[in-house]
Amino acid sequence: GKITIAIDGYSSTGKSTIAKQLSKALGYVYVDTGAMYRAVTLYAIRNNLVGEDNLNVEAVIDELSRIHLKFVPNQLTGKSDMFLNDENVEQEIRTMQVSRQVSKIAAIKEVREKLVAIQQQMGIEKAIVMDGRDIGTVVFPDAELKIFMTASPRARAHRRYKELLDRGDKVTFEEVLNNVQERDHIDSTRKESPLRKAQGAVEIDNSDMGLEEQLERILNYARR
Ligand code: C5P
Repeated sequence: GKITIAIDGYSSTGKSTIAKQLSKALGYVYVDTGAMYRAVTLYAIRNNLVGEDNLNVEAVIDELSRIHLKFVPNQLTGKSDMFLNDENVEQEIRTMQVSRQVSKIAAIKEVREKLVAIQQQMGIEKAIVMDGRDIGTVVFPDAELKIFMTASPRARAHRRYKELLDRGDKVTFEEVLNNVQERDHIDSTRKESPLRKAQGAVEIDNSDMGLEEQLERILNYARR
């Protein structure tokens, strides 16, 4: 039958890495909901609706009907690329510029309503692994398996920092650590669907846990 696996947790806990591996091992479709919030944010940045010290909530809401999102499978990477109005933005949505603004955009109720509806639609007929902040609490409260990932802020910032350096981004560790902590704060204190461990979720702290072990643990839960 159709199974839904919901993976939530703080920023840079390695949710997407785990979710990708898991979906491969089980033959499920992987959906990265953070990419959707990032794409809406990129659109808002390009149209000057959000910046370091501005946020035009009304304008963002007005523009929502002009924002079309789509996941397109990429043969080379074996995962899906995020498309914003038919443009591949997979690389651009991962920059620090987007990371700095995304939690502000994700706190807007109408943005969440639009994206949650799309996400629920994607889970209707297919077995999926979906990662984000509100998957087990809001998008699929009846998911068969819910995971909540945590790790110390420094461990998370380290991973993210290495990723960004590998891609050639010029960032400092401090900047990344600040961003991780700022997103944690906004995501867990916002009014709309704050980041919470869902009812019945299994918590995994991976500060000192390798990928293999995490995958094995989650696969064990999935096979129960
Ligand atoms: O998962 P990722 O770190 O790419 O998500 C970027 C941001 O998008 C998060 O910090 C959060 O503000 C927002 N987000 C959310 N709900 C989700 C997924 C992401 O609010 N389901």
